[in-house]
Amino acid sequence: MDLLLILLVGIIGILIFLLLKKERVFGIKEENKIENKTLKNEVVTDNKENIYKLFNYIPEAIIILNKSKEILFSNSSAQKRFEISKNNNINSYLRNPDLIKAIEDAFIGKNPKDLEIEVKNRAMQRMNITIYFDSNNLFFNEPNCLLFIRDLTEFYKFQELKSDFVANVSHELRTPLQSIKMGLETFENNESLKNNSEIKDFLPVMISQSERMENLIRDLLSLSKIELQEHIRPTHEIDLNNVIEYVIKTHEKILNKHQIQIQFKKVNDFKIIGDNDKLIEIFTNLIDNAIKYSEKNKKIAISGKKENNLNIVSVTDEGVGIPKEYLHRVTERFFTVDPSKSRSVGGTGLGLAIVKHLVSQHRGEMNITSVENKGTTIELKFNSL
Ligand code: ATP
Ligand code: MG
Repeated sequence: MDLLLILLVGIIGILIFLLLKKERVFGIKEENKIENKTLKNEVVTDNKENIYKLFNYIPEAIIILNKSKEILFSNSSAQKRFEISKNNNINSYLRNPDLIKAIEDAFIGKNPKDLEIEVKNRAMQRMNITIYFDSNNLFFNEPNCLLFIRDLTEFYKFQELKSDFVANVSHELRTPLQSIKMGLETFENNESLKNNSEIKDFLPVMISQSERMENLIRDLLSLSKIELQEHIRPTHEIDLNNVIEYVIKTHEKILNKHQIQIQFKKVNDFKIIGDNDKLIEIFTNLIDNAIKYSEKNKKIAISGKKENNLNIVSVTDEGVGIPKEYLHRVTERFFTVDPSKSRSVGGTGLGLAIVKHLVSQHRGEMNITSVENKGTTIELKFNSL
């Protein structure tokens, strides 16, 4: 009986001890929870303030917007550049449909690419904008996105000056060159002059060099004009089938001369917003290259397809190909893989630079793949109409 009593007291004692211990344990845990929460909040608040301070030292403009596109924060540079006084809608300071669309896309989780836009405030401004969607509400307790804005206006002004200069010089060189060419043609058409022993050896060289110079001046002029207009979007509805068929037709003679076959199958509803002449220039350059850098009896295949919202065209040849190490350089001005080969076929190294600018003016994309001695494929992607 005594033993039973001792056992009962012991059990009750253990139970009381456990109960007390439990309260202590949970009490500490709760405290810890509260402490951690406070600590976490403090850290976040501190971080936010530090980040805002840091943003104010950054020379690029930074703006944070909520879902209604109202400005929640703008750093000093943004306030100065766009004269932001009140936190109202972004439309009051940066009115551009592409930007608004990209912001809306960011809020629905589509990751927009860097945007290059033109905005007319007091003067025309060109800027590059990166949009970052703050999915974790790091900066504000509501969905928000950050715009990092770099002003490219000065850079483009400088580019414009350079293009203007090149265009003027090329234009000035054209007239004297035409006189020289006319003189050389007179020599060539006159049998006794043509066979004169003193000029006989030089005449063909002079003629081919003046032709080369004429091509160079034409390409330089074309490139500088394109650069000046690159930011102006084309506006016409163009059927790519018609452009490609037209360019193939204009190349019939040279294709026959080189005994090269070309294939193209029309694609249904292959329309884009574009500029007919510029699209012709793009495909002329690509087909020119495919012929120039292929041997006789080879094939060129032009294929088109529609994928998602894109119209994709690729021009594939079975030519000499481009060595891997030079692939990224072929769109640079004056770059040629083999300068003597290019010179012999009348190349100046400006064709693909022109294509690159024209494709970008169409807001398109160009990809080049090539295998040496097998062939080259140039793929162009345009937004479908
Ligand atoms: P231009 O087009 O100004 O008359 P180009 O043809 O030499 O001269 P690009 O069209 O810019 O200049 O091409 C640059 C270089 O890239 C060429 O010189 C050539 O070496 C290489 N290349 C371009 N297209 C092809 C191709 N389809 N196959 C093989 N090499 C190519
Ligand atoms: Mg070329």
